[in-house]
Amino acid sequence: MIEKLVIANRGEIALRIQRACREMGISTVAVHSEADRDLKHVRLADESVCIGPAASADSYLQIPSIISAAEVTDAVAIHPGYGFLSENADFAERVEESGFIFVGPKPETIRTMGDKITAIESMKQAGVPCVPGSDGPIDDNDEARTLKLAKDIGYPVIIKAAGGGGGRGMRVVHSEASLLNAISLTRAEAGAAFGNETVYMEKYLERPRHVEFQVLADTHGNAIHLCERDCSMQRRHQKVVEEAPAPGITEEQRNKIGERCAEACRMIGYRGAGTFEFLYQDGEFYFIEMNTRVQVEHPVTEMITGVDIVKEQLRIAAGRKLHYNQDDIEIRGHAIECRINAEDPVTFMPSPGNISHLHMAGGPGIRVDTHIYDGYRVPPYYDSMIGKLIAHGEDRETAIARMRTALSEMVIDGIKTNIPLHREIMRDGTFTRGGASIHYLEKKLGL
Ligand code: ADP
Repeated sequence: MIEKLVIANRGEIALRIQRACREMGISTVAVHSEADRDLKHVRLADESVCIGPAASADSYLQIPSIISAAEVTDAVAIHPGYGFLSENADFAERVEESGFIFVGPKPETIRTMGDKITAIESMKQAGVPCVPGSDGPIDDNDEARTLKLAKDIGYPVIIKAAGGGGGRGMRVVHSEASLLNAISLTRAEAGAAFGNETVYMEKYLERPRHVEFQVLADTHGNAIHLCERDCSMQRRHQKVVEEAPAPGITEEQRNKIGERCAEACRMIGYRGAGTFEFLYQDGEFYFIEMNTRVQVEHPVTEMITGVDIVKEQLRIAAGRKLHYNQDDIEIRGHAIECRINAEDPVTFMPSPGNISHLHMAGGPGIRVDTHIYDGYRVPPYYDSMIGKLIAHGEDRETAIARMRTALSEMVIDGIKTNIPLHREIMRDGTFTRGGASIHYLEKKLGL
């Protein structure tokens, strides 16, 4: 097994990794910025190394500092968490070249999946259903072909940057008149934002849901799926509430798409935990991208399957075989996660500051993944998510009822949080019916 591991992240996911390591007897090294000395996992880790000033660019994104921290502490592996360097193929490569284990897929897999065009190509080869589209980059020198392509796909279409991420680098086009202009605008933006001007075209689905499949694959050719999650409650392409399983998805659909994803993992030699993201509309799944890391919303899958995804990541990284066969995976009940953000629940403005009073929720089926504590100061430099409230029950109604109770118990004073918004969502008729589209929350909020 891995003896000592560097946790190259912060906040709740760093604590989540710390907990898995503690359980497995792995020593931990917390690397942190100057602003994060008081993080809970830094206090709990066996060792800690300050890797730079508050700004992420000078600390959590500094590849040499993280590798040096592993060197000076004699660690053998690095877990990148999510965000920051987790999907940076150059980082994974440098980690491996320096002789450490990267807890994640091979660098070349991250690279292939990081380019949406090559990702779609390899998924098509593996028989994963994709959105009808240009099947490759749009060629600016062949306008006639581009116009015909859009006509054949049918408007509206969406122009997307191959190197895009975080919901940026996309433009919806409703008619031929604005197509070519939209392409050049998206191309220019993509060049500036991602250093890659390549764009492609897809059919724009008007009322899809976001349904994603969790997979695990080891280095011995085994791959399984852990069913799906529905993450359609979004604001500005940011997930707000997630749940598993996805309402209304049949056993047959689950088995079929899940197995395609597992098969794709075997074909590309995938390693570790990953997520296949799909848009789901009118009973059909359309692959949009793969995330090659642990996701924020992994706990809902853990609650319904009983699989500890972070521990599996560590086992796989250590070269072990998967602990489970596909037949071992059974859905038990339903789980919902609310992302708790330090922000104004109406304006969504970040609300950093001192937590003067904290009262956690509890009771049957409640899990709280958070690094905050009484007296903790939420720094203004990072993502505003301060924790996740997860409710599990034997069915969706029970999970929602438990979530409502938990939200009514939870007290976080001193800063503003989006708990009032979650209380509203849990009472919303469309949410409680299940199966709302990705546009529902924004419409409800009047955005
Ligand atoms: P990113 O990597 O920036 O998150 P994605 O490809 O995952 O980009 O797309 C982000 C979001 O954009 C999706 O969740 C969906 O809301 C919207 N989107 C992307 N492609 C389409 C499409 N073909 N039709 C409709 N909406 C889309």
